[in-house]
Amino acid sequence: MVYEYVGNMHLHTHYSDGHVSHEDVAMAAIEAGIDFVVATDHNIYVGGIDGYRTMGERRVLLLVGEEVHDQTRDPQKNHLLIYETHKELSTFAKIPQTLIDEVNNAGGLAFLAHPHDPEAPAFNEPDLSWVNWEVDGYTGLELWNFMSEFKSLLKSFPKAFYYAFNPTQIASGPFPEVLSKWDSLLSQGKKVVAIGGADAHALPARIGPIKRTLFPYKFHFQTVNTHILTEEPLIGDLEVDRMRIFQALRRGHCFVGYDLPASTRGFRFMGIGNEGQTLMGGSLQSNFGVTLQVKLPLRTTSRLLHNGTEITSWENAEVGVFTAQEPGAYRVEAFIPYKGKMRGWIYSNPIYIT
Ligand SMILES: [Zn+2]
Ligand SMILES: [Zn+2]
Repeated sequence: MVYEYVGNMHLHTHYSDGHVSHEDVAMAAIEAGIDFVVATDHNIYVGGIDGYRTMGERRVLLLVGEEVHDQTRDPQKNHLLIYETHKELSTFAKIPQTLIDEVNNAGGLAFLAHPHDPEAPAFNEPDLSWVNWEVDGYTGLELWNFMSEFKSLLKSFPKAFYYAFNPTQIASGPFPEVLSKWDSLLSQGKKVVAIGGADAHALPARIGPIKRTLFPYKFHFQTVNTHILTEEPLIGDLEVDRMRIFQALRRGHCFVGYDLPASTRGFRFMGIGNEGQTLMGGSLQSNFGVTLQVKLPLRTTSRLLHNGTEITSWENAEVGVFTAQEPGAYRVEAFIPYKGKMRGWIYSNPIYIT
């Protein structure tokens, strides 16, 4: 039996540059219908917050991580999302590898945040990409960051105005730069887990005479989320559920879903080989081939990639099957028509064939 939970793992509260409290975040998450949220304030670990919050019959698990970067670096690149360290680690921000090592020493997880984050000169927003790619030992990377994508569209004031008032037009998919970087790491035999995040701030923005909140948390939690798959259900207990969520993330039993056009709940990518079967994120040996099975929540276009190269695609289909013989990393992308164009919808984690 497999259980699916939807979460958002990149957001800011008023402990850094977000504009609401942890409690407001939890209520927005419940209203959006997601199962867990992890607050990641800049360079501050806020203890004593973790736990379930409820609204009527509904509940959400509110957890706290941290987004760490070196504030003396100019520009302030290399943002790292860290989870499950249960202590402040921003003092190690100066050297990215040291920071990652300290996260691992504390039993935590580290994800490279918004690895490609282009500048927006019209708004004096600098490029905050990840640049120190020689690092090792991190859990994964943030494949799709909603706010970086928004930032990349801020080419002029009229464009900014348009997207601020038409936020459903913003998301198209992860940056090609991040997808190709991820594929190149996977092709080198590395296991790199992909997650997707809102990077929610609810910024009060001023574009000319117009004031606007960019964007409400509830909207964010209905857009780019991380869906996890667990073998045992969440039971409403903080410690048990926290362990199940982060174990799934560490193993890559998760995918990135853009839930606004249609819910991505129900997506599955399985590998079946001689030795058994695995969820996405797992490994199987290639002897006699591995059957890869894709199941989508609705009929649409999807494709299977091997070390970053498309090897087959399916049109207007709800299922796909492929027998893989070659070793390497296999992953799935699905697309959906929404607001006048085809958009990225689902990005699976890989199944690794050895
Ligand atoms: Zn950041
Ligand atoms: Zn952030």
